Formats: sequence, C-alpha cells, structure tokens
Amino acid sequence: MDQKKVHRDTLTIHTGHAPHEHHDSLAMPLYQTSTYVFPDAATGAARFAGEQEGNIYSRLTNPTVRALEDRITALEKGAGSLAFGSGMAAVSAILTYATKAGDHILATRGIYGCTFGLLHIMEEKYRITHDLIRMWNEEEIEAAVKPETTVIYIETPINPTMEIADLQAAVNVARRHNLTVIVDNTFSSPYIQNPLEIGADFVLHSATKYINGHGDVIAGLLTGSDADKIADLRMTIQKDYGGIMSPFDAWLLLRGLKTLAVRMERHTANAGRVIDYLKTEPMVREVHYPFDADNPQAPIARRQMSAGGGILSFTIDGGLAEAQQFMDRLSLIKIAVSLGDAESLIQHPATMTHSGVPGDDRAAMGITDGLLRFSAGLEHPDDLVEDLRNAFAAMRAKTAATAGE
Ligand SMILES: *Cc1c(COP(=O)(O)O)cnc(C)c1O
Repeated sequence: MDQKKVHRDTLTIHTGHAPHEHHDSLAMPLYQTSTYVFPDAATGAARFAGEQEGNIYSRLTNPTVRALEDRITALEKGAGSLAFGSGMAAVSAILTYATKAGDHILATRGIYGCTFGLLHIMEEKYRITHDLIRMWNEEEIEAAVKPETTVIYIETPINPTMEIADLQAAVNVARRHNLTVIVDNTFSSPYIQNPLEIGADFVLHSATKYINGHGDVIAGLLTGSDADKIADLRMTIQKDYGGIMSPFDAWLLLRGLKTLAVRMERHTANAGRVIDYLKTEPMVREVHYPFDADNPQAPIARRQMSAGGGILSFTIDGGLAEAQQFMDRLSLIKIAVSLGDAESLIQHPATMTHSGVPGDDRAAMGITDGLLRFSAGLEHPDDLVEDLRNAFAAMRAKTAATAGE
C-alpha cells in the first residue's frame, strides 16, 4: 500500500510494528530491558562510534519505545519523534533545545500551568524572557516579536477557556523572522489537529491525555519536521537530561493509541450532546467550545482542526460556592484534573489547575470563579446529560428551600 495514502485511523493500529521481526507477535512485545548485549567487542565499538545501527542502552533507544515514536511520527506527519517520561519532560526538553541564554519566547496567554512555571525558571536561571499574548491574527503576533525572539510557543485550544490561536498566522510570522514554532497539541490529539502540516517545527503531546486515553500513564511525546534535529536532541538533551519514557509505559501507549480514532469520535460526539443540553439549562451562562456556532473564533478553529474535540468549559450562575456545590452534586462525572480519559472529568480551574496563577492574571485570561472545565468521556451521552441535569435540579431545589425558609 502507498503509505502516504493510509488514513490516520489505520496508522494508529499498524505503524512501527512488523510482526515477523518479533516472533510473529501480533502485539508489539514489551522489551523490558535496561541494556543490550553486543555479540562481540567490535560491534559494541561500532555502535558507540555511530558506524552501526543497533541498541546500546535503553536511555538512548528501546524497541518498544521506538515503535511508539515511529507511530506518532506517522500520525503527526513528522520526520522523527522522541518519547519522554511526562508531557513536561517533552516541554522542557524542546524549550531547552530551541533557546539559549538571553533569548525571548512568545507564548500564547493561558498556557498550561507547569509550562508557565518552567518559563519563570528559564527567566530566573538563564535570562530567557517571555511574553504571553493573544494569537488571533498575524498583526498581533508580528507586533510582539523582539530582536531577541527565537521561539513561538503555542497551545491551541487554550486551557481552560478554549481560546484558539491561529497556527497559520504564527507560522507566517515565524518564517519572516526565522523563529522556531513549537505547538502543544495535547487538547486536540493528532487525530484532530496536525500543526506540522501547517508549517510548525515541533509538535508535542502530554501523552497522558488522549494518546493513552485510559488514565493510567504519565508520558510525553515530541515530533519534529527535521529528522536531524530530532536525532541531535536524542543524543544531547534527552540523553543527558534523561527524562525518558519507560518501555512499559510505551507498551501501554501503543495499546491505547490503537483506539484513538474511535475514541476521538465518541469524545467529540459526547461533548456535542453535553453542549446541546447545557444551552437549555437556565443556570448556565456561557459555553466555550472551538466549533460552537456562537464562538467568534470558530472559523479559525475549523481551518486547523477536523473536529471540535472532547473538551469544553462553561460558566454557571454564581461564584465559587455554586461551582463547588454543583460539582459535589454530580455522581457519574468525576471531579479530577487531567482529561482525555474514558471517564468524564470535571474540574474548577480557579481553585485547581490555575490556582497558582495570580487572581488578576486569571481574570485577564477569562478564568472566573464560576468557570468549570469538562472533559467528555466515553460513557453513553444520555447518562452524562442525566447526571448534569440531576445536579442542576438539586441546586435549584436547595435554592427554593432556602427561599422558603
Ligand atoms: C497535562 C498537560 C501537560 C503536561 O503533561 P504531563 O504529562 O502531565 O507532564 C502539558 N500541556 C497540556 C496542554 C496538558 O494538558
């Protein structure tokens, strides 16, 4: 088959594993080994000298991890990938690789909390400064470029407001100024959005989320459009900082990935059903979702995403107390951070994922006390709607009882 014509649904199942090279095993075997035995001393020397392909030590390469790297490379249409022990290990590796002391990073406002923390560490230790900006169009991005800017770092959709950054606009500005574009694609998964195809240089995932999809692994993946740069990263920052993925986690991720296509379709459909219901609920003020008809950014989202995905946020009437009471009245939907799992999860950004962001900055990002983030799971949509409906009904009953006292 012409590999270029194979669909992502198929690549998630087959890429990176040739059964006849592994005792005909249908599933990719788990190579749970730290090191590899050289057949003779000369072979060991040749592998270290880079004159012969082959495994040396599992911090450098491991066949199970390699299968996963090849699979994500195919899905993101990249030239090579590296697997890390967490999403943050992937973020810190690529930001270290792409910058040097004194550089400036342009990032989307409202980035993941620990990435925000990392940018502060880089500023303190290496004088690498940053600005957090809206990236809705080329003009906004162009205006923020400084002489020392070297990187544009993008998250889209942005957590938890679901604001969209325009990937094509960022790539256009980057080309004019020779900047490296890095995209955190965690919220979309490679099934819905492929930044390298738009011209980004690197794309990364917290594989903890949709790529694994089963809530039992912490992991990160980084894919690049330039194979030499990925090889260089493997033999420098990844090898020497050492934040690698374990073979067992790679094995679980290979298993999880096989169902990515069907999972993403159900996550998206369930999010749609929940939104339809929330829009009829009088206690809900606003719903934020990339493809929502009321979202002024929907045209940008539709240009770069093939579906709206499984994550949405909404604001309910009232503030902190009401948001907490509402979450406590849910039973099927679990109160937890993380996203992209089979279980539907809800969290309160102001007191959970974004509690470390100063109040004024939170307000500027649109994170109010009544805002809740919802990750649609794979349950039957009627059961999700029923759980939400019951929680709102219980809130109303309490309000009525209080009013009658
Ligand atoms: C979870 C997450 C991360 C961090 O990933 P870990 O696997 O938890 O280290 C980074 N970016 C986004 C958008 C995330 O949701």
